[in-house]
Amino acid sequence: MKIKEQKAIGFKLLKKDRAPIERRVVQILFVLMILYIGIQFMGFVNSYADPNATVMVPRPSGVEAFLPISALVALKSWLVTGIFDTVHPAGLVILLLAMALSLVFKRSFCSWICPIGTLSEGLAVVGRKLFGKNFVVPRWLDYPLRSIKYILLSFFIVFILIFMDGASAYGFLQTPYNMIADVKMLDFFKNLTGVGITVIAVLALLSLLFQNFWCRYLCPYGALMSLLSILSPWKIRRNADTCISCQKCTAVCPNQLKVAEAKSVWSPECSGCLNCVKSCPVKGTLEFSSPASRGRGLILDSKGVAIAIVVIWFMVVALAKFTGHWETSIPPEMYKILIPQAGQFNH
Ligand code: SF4
Ligand code: SF4
Repeated sequence: MKIKEQKAIGFKLLKKDRAPIERRVVQILFVLMILYIGIQFMGFVNSYADPNATVMVPRPSGVEAFLPISALVALKSWLVTGIFDTVHPAGLVILLLAMALSLVFKRSFCSWICPIGTLSEGLAVVGRKLFGKNFVVPRWLDYPLRSIKYILLSFFIVFILIFMDGASAYGFLQTPYNMIADVKMLDFFKNLTGVGITVIAVLALLSLLFQNFWCRYLCPYGALMSLLSILSPWKIRRNADTCISCQKCTAVCPNQLKVAEAKSVWSPECSGCLNCVKSCPVKGTLEFSSPASRGRGLILDSKGVAIAIVVIWFMVVALAKFTGHWETSIPPEMYKILIPQAGQFNH
């Protein structure tokens, strides 16, 4: 198909939401949950920072989703010592859960769950409305830029998973700095410096112009999910016999994958977003399946993936709570001491 025709298809698709409604519902569910956790966490910090507070707000463990470095150190410590982190156990559970989802359903954590991914997608939609399109980074620049997230990831892998020994990893988890890393993170966002505001503004602008800028080029968490997703048996598969080569799937792919030319999408960039499946006009031509599921006639549509992701997520969280791998072991009295002095702990 000629480039002009492909552009015309892309332009027509601009006006529609490219995502399946079920994915939007799941994304909104997780964003609302994160907002609730954020508000509760602020209440927790305020109540523990105030020596005259009479009502103490409980700490939401889900906030540990924002401590990926601590979770990686906890993973190293667990692998070497066999001791599951008790300081930020929810952080480690969430990291393992995101990794497991990537091993099964491609990088679905990024496109279905991660609130930063959702925000990034939202900015791209606004960008399309403002500028009439999202710009595409030329291929010669796209490849080196994409490597940035892998370089950042390798930095963490080398220093935490390879060089750090088990005792140091365990020791780091017990430091006051790590214990209140979440409080320090909140302080950072509450007291943003000029540099912080500039960096966020530049990233927001780039996300308006280029789809998924942060996820595609910079996020080391996403890079880890990308690498694991290569092993995922579930992939987008195209039936060349029924495909009419309309190019709609390629036009809506947020990761600029040439779906219309692939038999199966192997790329680590595929986030399992199912935009392509939603846009395909010939029923059954594009499917999300694994060789084993195909044999059993199990092909997941967006509703099936939504249910699977939500059920897996909340079942694992419930199991972690039930088995005592969710709530921190830090007693409230310790938070009473640590939170008012949070600024003093720098490493
Ligand atoms: S190939 Fe399909 S599922 Fe994968 S990122 Fe592109 S649109 Fe999403
Ligand atoms: S897979 Fe579907 S959307 Fe993609 S080119 Fe073929 S018919 Fe069109």
